[in-house]
Amino acid sequence: MIAALLPPPAALGMPEKFDRWRPGQAEAVLRALDSPKRFVVLGMPTGFGKSLAYMAASVLGDEPTVFLTSTKGLQTQLVTDFGPSGLVDIRGMNNYPCKEANANGRLFGRENPVACDEGPCLAGWKCHLADGGCDYFDAQKLAKSSRLTVTNYAYWMAVNGQFRGQADDNSARPLGKRGRLVLDEAHASVDELGDYLAVEIGHWEIEGVLGRNFPESQAMEGWRTWARHLASECEQHHERLGNEIRLGVSNNRRSLSRLRELRDLGRRLDAIAKTSGQDWVMEEARDRRGRRVVRFDPVWPGAYAESSLFLNVPKVVLTSATIRPKTLELLGVPEGSYEFLEYPSSFDVHLRPFIWVPTVRARHDMDPSHARMWVAKIDAILRTRGDRKGIIHTVSYARRDYVLRYSEFARHMLTHDTGGIQRTVEAFRESGPGTVLLSPSVGTGFDFPGADCRFQIIGKVPFPDSRSKVLQARQERDPDFFAYVTAQNLVQMAGRGMRSADDWCETIVIDDNWQWFSTKYKSFMPQWFREAWQKSVNVPPPLQLTARSR
Ligand code: SF4
Repeated sequence: MIAALLPPPAALGMPEKFDRWRPGQAEAVLRALDSPKRFVVLGMPTGFGKSLAYMAASVLGDEPTVFLTSTKGLQTQLVTDFGPSGLVDIRGMNNYPCKEANANGRLFGRENPVACDEGPCLAGWKCHLADGGCDYFDAQKLAKSSRLTVTNYAYWMAVNGQFRGQADDNSARPLGKRGRLVLDEAHASVDELGDYLAVEIGHWEIEGVLGRNFPESQAMEGWRTWARHLASECEQHHERLGNEIRLGVSNNRRSLSRLRELRDLGRRLDAIAKTSGQDWVMEEARDRRGRRVVRFDPVWPGAYAESSLFLNVPKVVLTSATIRPKTLELLGVPEGSYEFLEYPSSFDVHLRPFIWVPTVRARHDMDPSHARMWVAKIDAILRTRGDRKGIIHTVSYARRDYVLRYSEFARHMLTHDTGGIQRTVEAFRESGPGTVLLSPSVGTGFDFPGADCRFQIIGKVPFPDSRSKVLQARQERDPDFFAYVTAQNLVQMAGRGMRSADDWCETIVIDDNWQWFSTKYKSFMPQWFREAWQKSVNVPPPLQLTARSR
């Protein structure tokens, strides 16, 4: 009925392939447009067609809109689909080649192409392309003047962060005055905000770039004083090198990279110096290359959501399959200022069962008899599913190792260490029936449609790592914090193998923590997911029987 109130999507300028509204889409468009609240939350499951809904609402709403995605892949997907409808893409400077430096190899070297984030104009070099002809600055100008712009969370916050406090009405900001902000994958916005605010400094940077010793651990106030001092030192180095580049004394590829290093380090030190209050946590960690770093995180990123993410934009639409009211609480959005709408899944619930098979409570210190029972249950599930591919989510490498050691099906398993995940996932996709992907880390960020995954085993309810100091601090503040993160992880995990209406995939959880967790925290999981829950005392027959009978 509501769909009849709107012309078909194509008549609104949407691509021809969207020839009609799917169930619920037209209502979502109208609610996003008409809600009296500043924040509209659209809980739309996979398969709903959320991008068409929020794009159509933005076209009808007539306000300049920015869409934020959490990955560049999603950003590219949106531009592919809606570029012909006027959507313009902008991303960080490192995604665009610097024509000036690359054409001027005599000065800047020819070894590696220079990206715009190392462009000599950032050192004050007069580049004739800055006002027209530079890929990055041209893209930014186009994005600023466009009514529909897509970018990623990181770029939106970084590019506006440089101008924080200068333009409250957001008209002078690099992407212009915006009437509407759409957060895609909005369940990830809390982490995106936290990652943007977090500051990581490597020991090697202080020792190698600035030639200083890295200090011992100290109280937050001590770190601020340290950072203030080094930020100004960094600025002096930056200015000196910038002058050398500008005057032609030091023009080479290495100088441009060093200038960028100094600029980045200076910004991070400045960010530490400007933190306020005791609500920051510092912890020692290792970066992806195993080098020592210190990381500073705000305990409560939501306190900075307005100043870093929402930026006084009058209307904010949040869309996600897994978003909950708790997400809004973590973003610091007051209860009365948002409307929360939740839509049903169009995927047949019988084709995506989520089955708890009572086994044992999976713990990191399970006694050997329980651990053997746990692996025996995995093997019992695999024994009846040798004709298809599936995934075992182990949640930790220690549990992965245990399965590899004791499962009778270990020879059919593909697994990886921290560095080789992408390669292993590709090998799994190319493998034949009977292959099992054994992994602690494909619960989000990877999709396994169709025959790539017909069953999943969740070996452990994915509670967050309680050794992290910042997560501990958040849990101390909010006793439901760990449960919320766990619920998000679970819903994401269960969705990896069910990607379209004609897909099918069963998920079997063998951790008995599921029993109390699902009872106590069911409100942290969306209705479309809850309706798929089942319990089976024995290992259920493989889903294919059900699918064939349809
Ligand atoms: S404006 Fe800057 S980034 Fe762009 S081409 Fe010129 S030097 Fe490179």
